[in-house]
Amino acid sequence: MPNATEDPLAARILDTLIHRVGKDAKAARPHDWLAATILTVRDDIIDRWMASTREAHAAGAKRVYYLSLEFLIGRLLRDAIANLGRTPEVTAALASLGVDLAEIEEIEPDAALGNGGLGRLAACFMESLATLELPAYGYGIRYMNGMFRQRIDDGWQVELPETWLAHGNPWEFERRESAYFVGFGGDVAANEAGQVHWSPAEAVEAVAVDTPVVGWRGKRVNTLRLWTAVAFDPIRLDQFNAGDHEGALAGQVRAESLVRVLYPADSTAAGQELRLRQEYFFSSASIQDIVRRHVQYFGDIRTLPDKAAIQLNDTHPAVAVAELMRLLVDHHEIAFDAAWEITKATFGYTNHTLLPEALESWPLPLFERLLPRHMQIVYAINAKLLREARKVEGVDDRAIAAISLIDEGGERRVRMANLAFVGAHSVNGVAALHTELMKQTVFADLHRLYPTKINNKTNGITPRRWLFECNPGLTALIRDCIGDAFLDDASALSAFADHAGDAQVQERFDAVKRANKVALVDHLKGVMGLRLDPDALFDVQIKRIHEYKRQLLNILETVALYDQIRSHPERDWQPRVKLFAGKAASSYHNAKLIIKLANDVARRVNSDPSVGGLLKVAFVPNYNVSLAEKIIPAADLSEQISTAGMEASGTGNMKFALNGALTIGTLDGANIEIRDYVGADNIVIFGLTADEVAAKRGGGYEPRAVIEASRELAQAVNAVASGVFSPDDPNRYKDLMNGLYDHDWFMVAADFDAYAAAQRRVDGWWDDQPAWRAAAIRNVAGVGWFSSDRTIREYAEQIWGVM
Ligand SMILES: *Cc1c(COP(=O)(O)O)cnc(C)c1O
Repeated sequence: MPNATEDPLAARILDTLIHRVGKDAKAARPHDWLAATILTVRDDIIDRWMASTREAHAAGAKRVYYLSLEFLIGRLLRDAIANLGRTPEVTAALASLGVDLAEIEEIEPDAALGNGGLGRLAACFMESLATLELPAYGYGIRYMNGMFRQRIDDGWQVELPETWLAHGNPWEFERRESAYFVGFGGDVAANEAGQVHWSPAEAVEAVAVDTPVVGWRGKRVNTLRLWTAVAFDPIRLDQFNAGDHEGALAGQVRAESLVRVLYPADSTAAGQELRLRQEYFFSSASIQDIVRRHVQYFGDIRTLPDKAAIQLNDTHPAVAVAELMRLLVDHHEIAFDAAWEITKATFGYTNHTLLPEALESWPLPLFERLLPRHMQIVYAINAKLLREARKVEGVDDRAIAAISLIDEGGERRVRMANLAFVGAHSVNGVAALHTELMKQTVFADLHRLYPTKINNKTNGITPRRWLFECNPGLTALIRDCIGDAFLDDASALSAFADHAGDAQVQERFDAVKRANKVALVDHLKGVMGLRLDPDALFDVQIKRIHEYKRQLLNILETVALYDQIRSHPERDWQPRVKLFAGKAASSYHNAKLIIKLANDVARRVNSDPSVGGLLKVAFVPNYNVSLAEKIIPAADLSEQISTAGMEASGTGNMKFALNGALTIGTLDGANIEIRDYVGADNIVIFGLTADEVAAKRGGGYEPRAVIEASRELAQAVNAVASGVFSPDDPNRYKDLMNGLYDHDWFMVAADFDAYAAAQRRVDGWWDDQPAWRAAAIRNVAGVGWFSSDRTIREYAEQIWGVM
């Protein structure tokens, strides 16, 4: 081992290991080295962090607050040192200590405080906010277990707690001094002057836990502030001493249940009340913190909209609208109408879904019992809203019922999307098509009333994590071809297109892709004992398992392909590897069955010698950010095949294209804009459009006839339905297949033939490797616009007024 003290950084890491981790170099295990490295890097980040806060304060700058129930941040070490530009230095320092940086990066827990795209968007946005040097805070919940860890047992999903905090979390700072009282239930009383006083029946303390977020080139460090819950009386000593040991701790257990797990957003099961409690808990703590900071720095609460822009990431924090109103009216004694103007000027709201079952609404009795004062405020806002609406010509009873914050059809419910819409000055969708559909569907009546509120901000991804860090080989190739401008401005990637036809560049591109595939193959051999051929076409669908995302369409096409290869072995088949990964919400029966089907098909296909090496299928367990970082750089084909009109944007689609995979996809979400940017000749589009889907659903769609008319599809559906892939339980997929015959809401049958034909076009293209590589390079060059820096710049200029 070289002398570590010759390297000042190595000396510091060693010192940290001894004095803060409490181990010497001989006894240190990889986790100890990881902690020592993080703590050392963190020390350097803290200086930048404090300077960032001081600068924003001195400038009296307006701050951006991003409220999100999910932050899918993944691992942080590689990101932090890469953004600080210190990867070579840290690698060398650790090497001098006999430690491999890549190895300890790999054992850092993946912070899975989110479900999927919405949570990952929040994480990319935090990084871009720091990169653009905008003072910003992310606010969310510090889940002790977060999203579940997925294991696959005999093909079935098994959900286990994610213990990401088991070794502590060296990134975070607990701020006991930043703690707020959050109440639930109880009574509301008004005095003669009309001042309202809410006396909650119970309360917890929200305590801030801060994580630094480093922007590109370390220019700015922002704060991700996640709330944890503490009971006011963590232990009732009287009860404890009287012998009731468990009862004495009940308060803390109840408080902790607020921050225990993340409920998958589209789960429809129980836990409803706890979920509303979680939403209010973090919204209230965040709004109290924002108001406290504003008053401390600027004195007058009336100037809040000049100094604070609060963005609601979907409706999960929508109760924040009522919470700010409560603080303004009850605590700061501002008149209701004036408070309403302040509130609207402060909030922006991002909508993420048009699926009716995912639009949050709360049973009115539950909302009123838990948040009695907020219920009054919601009624008062609603009265104002409906009075205004009545004055507008053409607003009839039907429109009033649609606009109202209370859904009066059936069981009365509070509509959080309507509350967010009226409480915000800006309401944005996340891709052009989605924004148009918002205007036509969920918010049609509100849009007629407030025609300037809805705007579009197409999602983006950070190129730091999703290109520079996960694909250093491709990054180096691009630098050699076009220089370094794209490192700071992703739109400069467009120059890479000039090299698309260059045989030498193509060869290097192919070598990079192959190396990434070999690395993935090695990884999968380790985790699942699977042998894959890196020269096959890697065809990848990784995302939450949901019927609208149509993993089933892909699986049925796989079954059809399997049939075809066996029936026509003489044809020129291109070897393919079909990779799937994703979690199903724990209460989502069909999604879990689709996971089982993918595994059943994989087992059958992979063990059939008659397909030779031509087709392999794998379902990779526990999809998360770290797994995505390994799979995406190794992908050749990106499956983005949702039922048109149902995927708000997608961001997986952007990551794949940026890493040189071709997309096979429908005209849905951001796929449409991706096609525009990479060129229609460099993407494989198939299937119904959103308008066609709507028309078919309107009537006249007979899936049974469609299935019977397609030989390939009928054979595949019959094989699955009759138990060919589930001989141990032949009826396992009967209901799932009957669903296709009976209603096929997601248009799997309607799109099948077009999809299968598109896959054969892919085969033909892959057979012409120079053409394929040129198209892949054009994809990389074309998607710079989908950088989250561009997205954040648009929010900053057009919604927040901070640029
Ligand atoms: C990007 C990402 C997503 C979103 O993927 P979509 O294909 O857009 O649904 C979900 N999960 C993880 C871990 C991601 O990195």
